[in-house]
Amino acid sequence: MTHILHRTIHTKMPVAVGGKGIELIDAEGKTYIDASGGAAVSCLGHGHPEVLAVLHEQLDRLAYAHTSFFTTEVTEKLADRLVADAPEGLNHVYFLTGGSEAVEAALKMARQYFVEKGEPQRRHIIARRQSYHGNTLGALATGGNEWRRAQFRPLLVETHHIDPCFAYRFQETGESDEAYAARAADQLEQKILELGPDQVMAFVAETVVGATAGAVPAVADYFKRIRAICDKYGVLLILDEVMCGMGRTGTLHACEQEGVVPDLMTIAKGLGGGYQPIGAVLLHDRIFDAFAQGSGFFHHGHTYTGHPMAAAAGLAVQEVIHRHNLLSNVVDMGDYFESRLIERFGNHHNVGDIRGRGLFRALEFVGDRTSKAPFEPALKLNARVKKEAMARGLMVYPMGGTVDGRAGDHVLLAPPFIVNKQDVDAIVDRLGEAVDAAI
Ligand code: PLP
Repeated sequence: MTHILHRTIHTKMPVAVGGKGIELIDAEGKTYIDASGGAAVSCLGHGHPEVLAVLHEQLDRLAYAHTSFFTTEVTEKLADRLVADAPEGLNHVYFLTGGSEAVEAALKMARQYFVEKGEPQRRHIIARRQSYHGNTLGALATGGNEWRRAQFRPLLVETHHIDPCFAYRFQETGESDEAYAARAADQLEQKILELGPDQVMAFVAETVVGATAGAVPAVADYFKRIRAICDKYGVLLILDEVMCGMGRTGTLHACEQEGVVPDLMTIAKGLGGGYQPIGAVLLHDRIFDAFAQGSGFFHHGHTYTGHPMAAAAGLAVQEVIHRHNLLSNVVDMGDYFESRLIERFGNHHNVGDIRGRGLFRALEFVGDRTSKAPFEPALKLNARVKKEAMARGLMVYPMGGTVDGRAGDHVLLAPPFIVNKQDVDAIVDRLGEAVDAAI
């Protein structure tokens, strides 16, 4: 009998007791390859000795100091590192304990920015259907997944949604990438005009859509056009890189590959690699300056903001990534992973799309590859694949997609940045067996 309200009440979970490298170990001694990094979190795998050493040292030195009394060396160092590696202009950092908190803070920063600038009427948030920005109320209101929002709608602020840029589902036959990018991005302009340009506060998007759609990058130039539309109407661009950021796609920030710099960027998961709960918002100078020249503070704060242990984990993870040149491994192993997935599933009747970037990949399941009709019964195949994968010692992250009921289920794959070819082969082999067993 458990006293924990688990995610699913009637499913008995294995008990994780250890982790080493790319594997987790349960109480029965069974090992699981962590091919999803949990939910794209464990970018260095488990029990990384260099991270553990830093954490032990920080614990001995200082575990906690409240940010209304002190700053700490370790949080300052992590902020320096993040800014040194950030796109130009993102020169300020606000620390949190996870992704939802980061999104909440970014929304409040956007709002406060316009209050400071004397435009308090700007309040509308535009985001995209088929997105996930977290489960706290502001983040949930922003996300476009109706299944998650439905019963909480009375508690949510009003938000507005446009279609995602999702070529597999929405690009029309014969339509060029350029034309599709323009068509998809122009929905933002239409929505801004509909709501009144001086009433809109921010557009929020995942640079590469994570759990809800399954590792979906936008087509080339979509984000450039989005940036231009935001600039035209003075709307802030918030990129949510909680899942796709911190190296997962092969560059530290996914937006580097899009050639755009947001006004605010949220990061979390891979920032601390699961060694501690940590998230952050990177702020552009123009946001920080508005606060600095205005009220002089950000009207927000949590007890564990800037937690030294969390910062130590973030710093250690970032240093390991640099020291071992792991971003180039993400690119190389990402390419290898893609080629192995195509080899194994490229002709699979029930795999409609194989997509993603770096070590951020997904398989979308369909009932029929030509019509792209979802696998029936919808929302079940991914769960069966997860179950069969777990039985074979493999962790994959399942999710059901629901763009107007058109998207099928998918599994997300986000293995640690330390994988080698043999690891990738083992992942693809076990996944192949799991998919075949599940269908
Ligand atoms: N934003 C994105 C893109 C996410 O993928 C997630 C979590 O999956 C969140 C925000 C919320 O992060 P957290 O679960 O740490 O609150």
